Amino acid sequence: PPTGPVLELEDVVIHYGRIQALHGISLQVQTGELVTLLGANGAGKSTTMRGISGLAKTTTGDIRFKGESITRLAPHERVKRGIIQVPEGRRIFPGMTVLENLDMGCYGRRFGTKAEYQEAVDQVFELFPRLAERRKQFGGTMSGGEQQMLAIGRALMARPELLLLDEPSMGLAPMVIQQIFSIIARINAEGTTILMVEQNAQQALSRSDRGYILETGSITREGPGKDLLGDDAVREAYLGVA
Ligand code: ATP
Repeated sequence: PPTGPVLELEDVVIHYGRIQALHGISLQVQTGELVTLLGANGAGKSTTMRGISGLAKTTTGDIRFKGESITRLAPHERVKRGIIQVPEGRRIFPGMTVLENLDMGCYGRRFGTKAEYQEAVDQVFELFPRLAERRKQFGGTMSGGEQQMLAIGRALMARPELLLLDEPSMGLAPMVIQQIFSIIARINAEGTTILMVEQNAQQALSRSDRGYILETGSITREGPGKDLLGDDAVREAYLGVA
């Protein structure tokens, strides 16, 4: 059986034109882990995610998935290997129904049988009963929280080996944020490896195995989620506690 990290970034540098967004970051995600990447606006969190999914080009450094370099692979080739991203801002298809949105998540995945497809849909509906109730409703008419659930459900239809979540709590009400984080923890507990980008330090770190702090394109701290939550500098910067 394969050992070592599922995902490994080594000295990854990413530019936008002449602007250097990432200054050589290294991080790892082990099989089964829930890992949070925390940072302020503009720290480079989305750029890191885009680097992993292949939407942003790596200037130097290496990104490895299950021990193999994927640094030069096109985004769709990374999807085929099981790296599935839920982008910031959700990006569901507003003019399609809930069920049609979920079907879009199967893109690139070969379901052997109708039964297999139905099983995947049932699993998503079991996790998100809200989506089952609204399967015929248009995505665009759902609340922000429901759209986030739909975006996550759609990603799960692809059976990710690594699920990338970019700010899943963004723009949601506190009650809904609690729900989303508890569902994320459940998805992880049921076996999906997750790397999540967040600004909500308390919720994200308290549920994560480990976390990394990103500041202006560099990782400045890392450790178990609960240790980071107890760290004075982290508390001051991200929890507003002096
Ligand atoms: P946010 O929480 O606001 O999304 P972030 O931590 O995800 O912030 P990034 O979006 O990764 O940060 O941005 C990192 C840096 O790269 C910032 O300085 C940003 O201005 C810059 N940047 C991001 N996208 C582009 C782009 N398309 N062109 C030029 N610069 C960019």
